[in-house]
Amino acid sequence: MGVTPANDSRTETPLTAPGEIVHTGAAEFPGLDSWRELPLKQQPDWRNHPDFSSACAELSSNPPLVFAGEVDKLKRRLALVANGEAFLLQGGDCAETFEDVTADKISAKVKTLLQMAVVLTYGASLPVVKMGRMAGQYAKPRSSDMETRGEVTLPSFRGEIVNGFDFTPEMRIPDPKRMVQAYHKSAATLNLIRAFTEGGFADLRAVQQWNKGFMENPAHARYEQIAGEIDRAVRFMSACGVEFESLKRTEFYAAHEALLLDYERALTRIDSRTGKPYVTSGHFVWIGERTRDLDGAHVDYLSRVRNPLGVKLGPSTTPSTVLELIEKLDPEREPGRLTFIVRMGTANVREKLPALVEAVRDSGAKVVWVTDPMHGNTITAKNGYKTRRFDDVMDEVRGFFEVHQAAGTYPGGLHVEMTGDDVAECLGGSDVIDESAFDTRYESLVDPRLNHKQSLEMAFLVAEQLTRIT
Ligand code: PEP
Ligand code: MN
Repeated sequence: MGVTPANDSRTETPLTAPGEIVHTGAAEFPGLDSWRELPLKQQPDWRNHPDFSSACAELSSNPPLVFAGEVDKLKRRLALVANGEAFLLQGGDCAETFEDVTADKISAKVKTLLQMAVVLTYGASLPVVKMGRMAGQYAKPRSSDMETRGEVTLPSFRGEIVNGFDFTPEMRIPDPKRMVQAYHKSAATLNLIRAFTEGGFADLRAVQQWNKGFMENPAHARYEQIAGEIDRAVRFMSACGVEFESLKRTEFYAAHEALLLDYERALTRIDSRTGKPYVTSGHFVWIGERTRDLDGAHVDYLSRVRNPLGVKLGPSTTPSTVLELIEKLDPEREPGRLTFIVRMGTANVREKLPALVEAVRDSGAKVVWVTDPMHGNTITAKNGYKTRRFDDVMDEVRGFFEVHQAAGTYPGGLHVEMTGDDVAECLGGSDVIDESAFDTRYESLVDPRLNHKQSLEMAFLVAEQLTRIT
């Protein structure tokens, strides 16, 4: 089994040293600013704010958060996923908050993702590419620009990179300085992630010990067989004298929705090796369901940067849209460049996904197909909370696997909203969460997340699916 080795000498390109990356302004890279002339959705109205220009200028002169060499390495990993030779795990909060940038919260999230990854690695017998919705997931699309409570109407909460959650004019008025704060919070998060995943925290034996803790709960007895097999595999490797040094470190990538184009533009840098633009706010960025218009600003801007990209696909997506997205975002058919993150809802996935998968397959394009079983399954609980049923989430995953099996294509990954903490936001799971727990343990500011146990349980269930296909 393979936790992805940290040192891949075969495919390594040297990381570009920070000093080698030069920022060039709009005029210096043709086309980089054409998005400014196109329809641009889901942005705050803050261009005339007195701090707007200085915030953008500060971001533009700050060091990149990630480096082009790392981004290219991730693209090679994703090329393996597109080929059915690896599996992708993406997980984290719907919306990160500044307050939750603490060692405890970040380590719990990374730990949960590593635990999930070990289970999935075993299920797939393939390396798992690990990616957090972390270190930059601060901007949120909203269904309406304004929110009204009683007599008062204020701008909607758009994530802490834009405004505050509290329903007061001071908090809700968009503040560009928040972009600079989000940059620093992302830097602190990434710093800790790098320390954890390179400093021994990811040791396979430690991760396996944590998973044993999960198994002690009788509610999880049905996963005993897989857990036991993983344990034996680790002991077997140990007995064979496998060099655990190489399993102590792991690659871990940062991803977020590239929603706020002022921020993404200000953090775009030209890589000195290739002369190409990279978004340096995170390794992988995706375009959301509400902003993936073919002639819109988001698709145009991201078509011009070299990072691996995701696009969310909801139930209204047509095969021709998918083919046009490939044409715009991956005209050179570069392996690993494009990931489709399918979020149809359990009621739609078996009906609507086949036509999309078949159209891409028949076109000869190679993309990564990932299931996001969260965003199409949001409901309102009787007590008013936004929630999701664990069973609906799992059923969408099963539907996604069935569709790929029928089409002869590869179900390449899983994208979930999760946390490492013991919150109560999604209903169900073997250690059941019901609505009565929401009043005391619901923390998310936006969408409901799987808690630590529900996340691990999902990994075991997905591993069961993976053992059938790999
Ligand atoms: C999200 O990932 O939090 C999100 C808003 O998703 P989508 O664009 O699929 O609705
Ligand atoms: Mn969400």
